[in-house]
Amino acid sequence: MIELRTPAEIEQMRPAGRFVAEALATLRDETRVGTNLLSLDRRAHDMIRAAGAESCYIDYHPSFGASPFGKVLCTSVNDAVLHGLPHDYTLRDGDLVSLDFAASIDGWVADSAVSFVVGTPRDEDLRLIETTERALDAAIAAATVGHKIGDLSAAIAEVAHGEGYSINTDFGGHGVGRVMHGDPHVPNDGKAGRGYPLRPGLVIAIEPWFLATTDELITDRDGWTLRSADGSRGAHSEHTVALTDDGPVVLTDRSFLGVD
Ligand code: MG
Repeated sequence: MIELRTPAEIEQMRPAGRFVAEALATLRDETRVGTNLLSLDRRAHDMIRAAGAESCYIDYHPSFGASPFGKVLCTSVNDAVLHGLPHDYTLRDGDLVSLDFAASIDGWVADSAVSFVVGTPRDEDLRLIETTERALDAAIAAATVGHKIGDLSAAIAEVAHGEGYSINTDFGGHGVGRVMHGDPHVPNDGKAGRGYPLRPGLVIAIEPWFLATTDELITDRDGWTLRSADGSRGAHSEHTVALTDDGPVVLTDRSFLGVD
């Protein structure tokens, strides 16, 4: 069921959005060659506690998960792109890192993800990351009342295909509210003009993710981490966006922090 939020409820969602934005900006800033993924998770846990927020991940146990997630941050490195379960790994020069973070404040969830390279980047990794960011921007620009979900999907796919990346539609964006994953599904590929009409009060996570040379995923032995089937690298960009009569409001926007 798709739930629409009142303008007052969207205002109530802003603290969660701001917290997730600040936390991701901090985590990104503190992540470098030599950082251990478990220490990033602990840092995120500390920030959640300090903010009086609640993790959306730690007890998360969907049908596809082997057991409750048990961590508060997804850390996907190189050929891992989604649901990366933090483990004892120390980042090396040139690693491509995707951090996905969702938390709630006062019962309202925000969900956001960012990809970046630690140390010396490879050009192809920067292109992959930049393409997910540009696809996210294109989808947000299309997230106006009167459009349909398919317009967002088509905007994402156009950017991806323009760079030669193929798209996996098994995992995509979703409604956000009192829980992390609600209706509607927001696929990363679709037909313009099709699907659920975008109405004021709809709050969705939009999350393009692409793999360099495949659209097939395999699940790691940890039961959570999703990796490319061919070992190529992946990137992921995500924001929680509220649709209003005045246009899209990016609740997890980090630009006010002076970062992208
Ligand atoms: Mg997310």
